[in-house]
Amino acid sequence: MNVDRVAKALRGVAGDKAVLTAEADRAPFLAEWRGNYTGEAPIVVQPGSVDAVAAVVRCCAQLGVPVVPQGGNTGLVGGSVSGQAEVVVSLNRLNAVREVDAINFSLCVDAGCTLAAAQAAAADADLMLPLSLSSEGSCQIGGNLATNAGGVSVLRYGNARDQVLGLEVVLSDGTLLSALQSLRKNNAGYDLKQLFVGSEGTLGIITGATLKLAPAPEARLVLWLALDSHAHVLDAYTRFRRAFGATMAAFELVPDIAVDFVVRHIEGARRPADAPVHALIELHGGRAEIDRDAVLAAVSDAVDAGALRDAIVADSDRDQAALWAVRHNISDAQRPEGASIKHDIAVPLGALQAFIKTATERVEALVPGVRPVCFGHIGDGNLHFNLSQPLDLDREAFLARAPALTRTVHEAAQSLGGTISAEHGIGLLKRDLLATQVGPVSHALMRRLKESLDPDGIMNPGKLL
Ligand SMILES: Cc1cc2nc3c(=O)[nH]c(=O)nc-3n(C[C@H](O)[C@H](O)[C@H](O)COP(=O)(O)OP(=O)(O)OC[C@H]3O[C@@H](n4cnc5c(N)ncnc54)[C@H](O)[C@@H]3O)c2cc1C
Repeated sequence: MNVDRVAKALRGVAGDKAVLTAEADRAPFLAEWRGNYTGEAPIVVQPGSVDAVAAVVRCCAQLGVPVVPQGGNTGLVGGSVSGQAEVVVSLNRLNAVREVDAINFSLCVDAGCTLAAAQAAAADADLMLPLSLSSEGSCQIGGNLATNAGGVSVLRYGNARDQVLGLEVVLSDGTLLSALQSLRKNNAGYDLKQLFVGSEGTLGIITGATLKLAPAPEARLVLWLALDSHAHVLDAYTRFRRAFGATMAAFELVPDIAVDFVVRHIEGARRPADAPVHALIELHGGRAEIDRDAVLAAVSDAVDAGALRDAIVADSDRDQAALWAVRHNISDAQRPEGASIKHDIAVPLGALQAFIKTATERVEALVPGVRPVCFGHIGDGNLHFNLSQPLDLDREAFLARAPALTRTVHEAAQSLGGTISAEHGIGLLKRDLLATQVGPVSHALMRRLKESLDPDGIMNPGKLL
């Protein structure tokens, strides 16, 4: 790529201040959260309007220069990592809340709006955007939709795909697809917006979205369960899901080793209970939906039946936040424990116990002393089966075993009808595994879609496919 020529052309369509070429200016867009990759793009563009995004893509298409869409750059699979002949198109400056429609229970935002800012706009209208991730202060709505993000409220509200009513997308030739309708029912032809959800920037650049909102919960309870085994966790899940119905917004698995790590490394964190394994439940809904006495009775029945060791029911914001902090700090608390090899699998709920048992036995056989930290959105069948290095093994020696460990974990999930990518996406990290996950027919169809929507291959090439 002739950097000067491309930068000049981009300045012509997006303005001088939108085009960054100095190394220090580009650096934040080239770093990757986990440090697994380093971007190399010589140019980063930050268009300030939808028209400017379209003009940038048109310009790049004419010059034959591939573009890498980038949101908050919090993705965990290398999807927003750029090559040296590519231009990063950052949505940072396209960050307005366009409209909150309190009658329609919907919100329209620019794609570069952070998830936290979109949540705050909904909360200002006494409504809730029911998508919640630990990265919500940085990740953007465009990135959330492009990765079909999950998070901690999927049980009740679904993932990012389920929140979207309308979408605005710049296509690979710079044409604008404007489909920002806020209808809940619309069967007019193919549902094109869903093509772009989960497409990881390979089919177009999302510039705006209309999202569903829910009523802000009037009542909220957080329960911490102390349990004896994974079998007890699953039993508690089915028992309480029946008892609490749609009010169950989250059911998260927290292994005891994660509680140890959090208490050891996170200032102010306190161990909620002593048990081999723990679960965190959030119930929320309207005042009439949450009956505290009924919840306490269900918990007491479970303890009497031997299904639970103990439970904490937290009513106050402070107590609830302290319990959630243990769950949210697991990844940060794993860092000081040395290298960690991460997985984002899902299996049908009935196979969860078999997955945990099989995967644990196999990784322990491969690397004696490995410390599995198996946590996550167990209500969705989604586990982050993360492996902390053995205490007596050197970091590099452990990381050298990563391919074998990952293969083993993925095989265990796939053999039980599961997936190697539950909520983080495919990106660069799992690109070569996609065909084994989806099979040849789906893989070929994905390729045909890509070729049809991006015939010159300029949208985030080498990612996903
Ligand atoms: C601490 C932490 C916790 C996390 N927790 C969760 C979790 O619970 N659940 C979960 O699902 N994920 C989680 N993630 C992963 C990440 O936050 C999500 O994948 C998020 O949706 C990415 O959004 P982003 O704006 O940062 O996208 P980026 O990282 O910038 O990009 C991700 C992908 O989307 C594409 N993209 C970005 N913006 C656009 C756009 N406007 N149009 C088209 N393509 C675009 C990029 O090209 C890339 O392929 C976590 C990450 C961190 C660091």
